[in-house]
Amino acid sequence: MTYRLPTSVTILGARVPVLLRDDMEPTTFGEWHSGDLSISINMVCPDEHQRVVLIHEILHALDDFLDLGLSHKNIYGLSQAFFALIRANPDLIFYTVDGPEES
Ligand SMILES: [Zn+2]
Repeated sequence: MTYRLPTSVTILGARVPVLLRDDMEPTTFGEWHSGDLSISINMVCPDEHQRVVLIHEILHALDDFLDLGLSHKNIYGLSQAFFALIRANPDLIFYTVDGPEES
């Protein structure tokens, strides 16, 4: 089964639309928009790249929401690391999803 880019993600309770756009600068792969709480992904990115770009932009959103003050370099490193972690450990994701609701 191939999963498509989600049309939205829920980040700390906020529903954040994920827009696949064809009008972005070719050197910009993704963008987190703190004004309207949305994420744009550049359609020119290959499918595989869109996945890591989405993780990257989600981390920008978390950085913003939690006021972490991460640098772009921090976010770049974390997004690569999370992507690799998720890829290497799909059972970790299912284990987490399957667990009891946090109260
Ligand atoms: Zn970035």
